[in-house]
This record gives sequence, structure tokens and C-alpha cells, in this order.
Amino acid sequence: PAQNLYALFQQAFADHLERTAIQTDTGARYSFSDLDQQSARIARWLQSIGLQRGDRAMVQVEKSVPALVFYLACLRSGVVYVPLNTAYQSAELAYFMENAEPRVFVADPSRADALRDLAAGLGVEHLVTLGADGKGSLIDAAADHGGEHAICELAPDALAAILYTSGTTGRSKGAQLTHGNLISNAQVLHTLWAWVPGDVLVHALPIFHVHGLFVAVHCALLNASTMLWMGKFQPRQALEWFPQATVFMGVPTLYVRMLQEADLSPERCAHMRLFISGSAPLLTETFKTWQERTGHTILERYGMSETLMLTSNPCRPEAGSRVAGTVGRPLPGTDLRCVDEDGKHCGAGEIGGIEVRGPNVFPGYWRMPEANAKEFTADGWFKTGDMGQIDSLGYVTIVGRSKDLIITGGYNVYPAEVESYLNDLPGVDESAVIGCPHRDFGEGVVAVVVPLPGAQLDAGQLTAAIKAQIAGFKVPKHLFIAKELPRNVMGKVQKKALRETYAHIFD
Ligand code: ATP
Ligand code: MG
Repeated sequence: PAQNLYALFQQAFADHLERTAIQTDTGARYSFSDLDQQSARIARWLQSIGLQRGDRAMVQVEKSVPALVFYLACLRSGVVYVPLNTAYQSAELAYFMENAEPRVFVADPSRADALRDLAAGLGVEHLVTLGADGKGSLIDAAADHGGEHAICELAPDALAAILYTSGTTGRSKGAQLTHGNLISNAQVLHTLWAWVPGDVLVHALPIFHVHGLFVAVHCALLNASTMLWMGKFQPRQALEWFPQATVFMGVPTLYVRMLQEADLSPERCAHMRLFISGSAPLLTETFKTWQERTGHTILERYGMSETLMLTSNPCRPEAGSRVAGTVGRPLPGTDLRCVDEDGKHCGAGEIGGIEVRGPNVFPGYWRMPEANAKEFTADGWFKTGDMGQIDSLGYVTIVGRSKDLIITGGYNVYPAEVESYLNDLPGVDESAVIGCPHRDFGEGVVAVVVPLPGAQLDAGQLTAAIKAQIAGFKVPKHLFIAKELPRNVMGKVQKKALRETYAHIFD
């Protein structure tokens, strides 16, 4: 049956309308009734300017509760929500506007004037503003409308959002997500992660990405849980909230930053039930140190814009243990397989391309028929672009992206494997291994290594140490010591940028 995701949220909080839905780091409080009424006002404004089901509304604003309310308004009115990373500049915005053809664009007040001509030239009819303080012409316009709105009925495959991928491997692609995709994933995660009445979520992530927007917010709303809401991640604020909270979701860099706080302790985390990590690989080092410092075992899960969440380490003890370096088992209802270059299934422990199928998997990229023809198999599986292996217990390990796979002299080198050896050497904090064009070998292995604070590393010694451990063709031919790795806000290492930096190293 056709269902609107917002209707599920409304059912969940119907009996708790006066409960705190969101408490912010600036002291603002929103009840569920506030979220419901304010999203109704915006939904009615969208209706009043003639937006129809399936029309797009694009948003590039700082994180705020009214920005989240705008998302809820789009859901309830059947308008397709298209959030953008706040880092994008005008050339990128032009691509997104041209690609998605939004009728509405919500901009930060400081950028709106610069965007007005661009937006008008690309057919955007309504440019409104919304600032980090939650004020702007969007809110003014919505204030003229009443706080009641009948949730829109939808066809089963109705789009809820277009989420542009992070652009880690190339130009961002618009992943179309249906209400059905979002509903199935939210319900599965809500059950699997054992949400109970009284759970309180610390919301520390941006809301233009699948992790902060869908995974975190949907679980909390389905559970009618309070969110403690940070505009920008502050490790101190997180630690201060842990005694009143139960669930935290973060990318690995957030855990690394919290570990730098001296008073992170088991006592401080005693009220917490669950720490979840995803969006980028969690180092075993971080996993172990977190265990030592807090007594909690981080639950790592894996997913992507196109598929929402795919795998998770176990939550309940009886379901098994959380294994460092793995992303756990496929979610109930999601099929996941590893296949070799000829499409043959890999055996246990064999590395192959990860393909997936299930109610959470998107119907395809927005207006990219060639990509859709290429990225889905004839029998309907989506090729994730990640390489991995499945062990005999069904746990999945990601070994890197197929685009980052290094082929040197005909041999495959999986960057994650070489990185894990490098990371284990004394004085090494982290590393990135890439392939750079090489006349004789096609690609040559290059490593960039970040020392632990205070450690003195010697490239020659590191290379010698690694040579004693792994096959010669995997050993980096060049090894650089760097202060840090290039990362985006989601903590993803930008290997494309590293490859550009070292493109001519073997010339
Ligand atoms: P693009 O597709 O534009 O190159 P992207 O793949 O980084 O960018 P996202 O959809 O934001 O865009 O990220 C999904 C990817 O993040 C996955 O395909 C996977 O490579 C990586 N990822 C997510 N969770 C994990 C995890 N727990 N461990 C390792 N990698 C992860
Ligand atoms: Mg991707």
C-alpha cells in the first residue's frame, strides 16, 4: 500500500505531542507538536505556491531545526527533498540546479544574493532563505499559513528525496530514494538497534547526508525519542550530554576527536546504550581505544546514499559480537553478495565486488540512464562500487572501493590491506595507499602516512618494516610522511585528491 514516511512519524509521536522532540545546544526546545505544526505551515506554503507531488525543492543551508522541519514538510506534501553539502560553491550549484531542476531553492541568507541570477537563469521559481539561526524568508512566508495539513497520499514508488553522493570517486550522482526505500530501512534499523522508549539520541552530524538525515533522524522520530541537537560537532558538548543520552551516531573522525577529551570515561558514558559508527572505515585502533576509555564497543555499520544502510554489526549480545574492522552482516531483508570480474559468486573470504538487492535499494540515479544501465546487473542487483569479502559467519569486510583498487604489474593491491599493516607500525596514526601512473607497472603503489602526535617517522624505516611483512608488489614504492590526510566533512579520505597530488611521482 502507498505510504508516506511522515505518516509513520506522526503515528509514532501521536501520543507524545508535548514531549521534547529536539533540545539544541543553543537552548531551544521543540516539542513533537512544534515539529508537526511548523512542518504543516511550510507544507501549506509549498502548496500555496503551486508545488506538486514530485516537484523538487533544493536546500543548501546550515544545520538547524527549521532546516529539518523543511525536510518534514517536503515529505508530508510529496515534494522531493534535495539537500546539498554546504561546502559546494557556485559552479557545483549550477550543476545540481541544472540536473535536478528544483522549483524552490532554500539558501543561506549570506549567499542568496549571489545565487539569485544563477537560480533564475536555471528556471528556479522561488529562492527563499533560511539562516543557521532558523530565521529567513522561508519562515516568514510559512508564518502566514495554518498549522494543520493533511498528509499527502502517495503512489508506492513516489520519490521522497534525491541525495547527491559525496563525490568521493567522481562527480556526484543524484540517488533517487522513494518513501518505500526510507520506510523499510528506518523500520529495520529501529528494530535491529533495539530502540526502546526513553532512548535519547545525541545528534551531531550534518543533515545533508544519509547518515545524519536518514539514519539518525528517522530512528529517533520512529521512536518518538528526544534528540539532543548540535549545530556543529563539539566533542565537549557531546561528552556533556552523554549522561542524559543513550545513543550516539558518528563518523570515525568524531570518535577520534572525542578520544582527545581527557575526561572521556566509563562513568561519563554509563547512561549510554549504543555508539554507532559509519560513512568511512573505523580504524581498529579507534575501536579498541574507545573500548578501553569508555567500556563501550562501537557498532560499525555500512551503507551508502544509493542503498541506505546495508549491513550492521550486531546490537543485541545474543546476535553475536561486534567485530573490529568488519561492518557486520547484511540487514534483514537486504541481500548482499561478492562477485568476481566475471560475475561469479566469491567463496567465504574471497574478495569481490559488493552487489546488493532489497527494499532499501534505490530505483536508480536521477536522469542518468547510462549509469543506471551500467550499475545494475541484468538480474536487478546494484553494484555498489565497493570491494569486500564475507567470512564464514556472514560478516562483511570492506577492503576499499573498486575505483581505488591498484593494479601494479598485473597484480591487484587492495589499499585497505596495506594501510592496515602501515597503521600497526609504531608511531603511525593512519595512512592512505593509492596507485599512481607508472610506465612499467601501469600503476605504482604510493603511501601517505600520518605520524601519531610527537612521533618521528622515517620513510625508509617504515618501508623496510612493511617489506618484512607483505609481498614485494604490495610494498609502497614511495612513502610520504604528512601532517594529515585530505578529508571531507563526513570524514572520508579524498583519495582522488591524493592521486592528483602524486600523479607525476613516477614520471
Ligand atoms: P561517490 O559515490 O560520489 O564517489 P561516496 O561513495 O563517498 O561518493 P556516499 O554515498 O556518501 O558517497 O558514501 C558511501 C560510501 O562510503 C560507501 O560506498 C563506502 O565506500 C563508504 N562507507 C560507508 N560506510 C562505511 C564503513 N563503515 N566502512 C567503510 N566504508 C564505508
Ligand atoms: Mg559512492
